Amino acid sequence: MPSLITMIMNKILSLLLIFFIFSCKSGKTNPSPTINNGKAKITISKDAIKLLDDKVILYYASLITKKDLKKHLTALTSKTFEGRKTGEKGQKIAADYIQNYYKKIGIEPAFSKTESYLQNIPVSFLNGKSNSDTENILGFIYGTEKPEEIVVISAHYDHLGIDGEKIYFGADDNGSGTSAVLEIAESFQKAVIEGEGPKRSILFLNLTGEEEGLYGSKYYASHPVFPLKNTVVDLNIDMVGRVDARHKTNNYVYLIGADKISTELHYISEAINKKYVNLDLDYKYNDEKDPNRFYYRSDHYNFAKNGIPIIFYFNGTHKDYHKPTDTEDKIDYDALQKRAKLVFHTAWEIANRSERLLID
Ligand SMILES: [Zn+2]
Repeated sequence: MPSLITMIMNKILSLLLIFFIFSCKSGKTNPSPTINNGKAKITISKDAIKLLDDKVILYYASLITKKDLKKHLTALTSKTFEGRKTGEKGQKIAADYIQNYYKKIGIEPAFSKTESYLQNIPVSFLNGKSNSDTENILGFIYGTEKPEEIVVISAHYDHLGIDGEKIYFGADDNGSGTSAVLEIAESFQKAVIEGEGPKRSILFLNLTGEEEGLYGSKYYASHPVFPLKNTVVDLNIDMVGRVDARHKTNNYVYLIGADKISTELHYISEAINKKYVNLDLDYKYNDEKDPNRFYYRSDHYNFAKNGIPIIFYFNGTHKDYHKPTDTEDKIDYDALQKRAKLVFHTAWEIANRSERLLID
């Protein structure tokens, strides 16, 4: 997650740019955000939510293991990945790691014609924050019944790089979310192989440029590979491997944004948690008035801006946030596994329900 200062500086820069364009009278206008199904005044009651009765789901959830999460996180935070800074060598090595893993387990590349997992983002898009092009990585599972409807599971994989001798390992930020996405992808892919693949398509979206100001998701939202109007939800994972000072146990996760666009999503998320994972869902940072403004500070925001329901999963900040001391040995794998399972169960439910999420 980018620092609040990065977000404010980017905002000022973009406002200056808008002012500049406006005063040049270029006449270019941005398309206004679209609301997916256009239905208004839907009343959704919590008691009306019926979850799927799925006998296989617990088996596939059980494939999300602490051992595998640790394997991915240890690789992503190794010295050769050099803190995964956008546009630099370490980020490219991380991109290779992720796409090679998708290839190995049989997840299809989203660009089927070229058989590529990579969405190239030109250096010109990055406002001088990178010295070279950078890449989002897109793995894809084709839905069995409603393949045109897309469930997105996202996490950024870039971090802050190196500064002299110091490596910013970014274990929690966001080696944790990246490892969770890889494990969730493996579980869904196993289901595909065994004839239990999801009804809707799933896009595993590993984003770059997040620490510089959400550039990877901004690029995806302005150059979507699958139409945004067919994008059902974005479940975004950013920092889920630690426990913050507000909590005495690891049995919690902050949820942000779940109720903002689809009340149904919020109720489904709560019901899923109660049925399968039982974490304490902390909504402290979901408060619009919270000064941390986390809702605006990770990649889901570029989906929410376009009227797509989102949930942001987050463990809160800690003393190692954006420091070289955000290292793998401090990860709580029990917490990471539980949070990854919550995302998996929620994605499974949304991908397999007969009706698409309602937007109200
Ligand atoms: Zn960060």
